[in-house]
Amino acid sequence: KERKIFDIKESILQSSKIVHSSIEKNAIKLDILGESLSIDGFENEFEQVIVNILNNAIDAKIIKSKIIKFDAKIEINIYKEDKNIFISIFNNCGNIDEKIIERIFEPYFTTKFEDQGTGIGLYMTKVIIEKNMKGKIEAKNLNDGVEFIIKLRA
Ligand code: ADP
Ligand code: MG
Repeated sequence: KERKIFDIKESILQSSKIVHSSIEKNAIKLDILGESLSIDGFENEFEQVIVNILNNAIDAKIIKSKIIKFDAKIEINIYKEDKNIFISIFNNCGNIDEKIIERIFEPYFTTKFEDQGTGIGLYMTKVIIEKNMKGKIEAKNLNDGVEFIIKLRA
């Protein structure tokens, strides 16, 4: 648990192993694409960020599956533009209501039942990315799903 240079793609692969069984169980196709790029920071915190976002995508799959049968996928893309590294995490499991999308990073904000969500996942995620790693994170609705975009200084 120390600050060091680590490979983002390796770290994302590691994070995906943590949620592997639940991804399998829910028949979600996960693709991790893009470049191997290095970043400076606390790797365990970065992995927590990816796990949080993946867990939310899995929850979204479970919720949407109650309404309609569909082929769920999560696609992660790592790329560099100028001096910035971008990590895009897209899932095709439904949109976030535009009325609440501004609030999802607030502490204790959740749309889930008490025993299923605490509303701290995305708050923690934002603290890690923006305070600790000096980056940016945003969420936007895209077609049939949601895209989280993390921007970090290369
Ligand atoms: P929790 O998962 O405990 O509810 P989070 O902070 O992780 O708390 O997420 C806050 C809220 O953001 C969720 O309750 C949900 O409404 C919304 N959300 C996050 N990720 C997604 C997603 N991939 N698809 C749809 N809604 C999402
Ligand atoms: Mg969550």
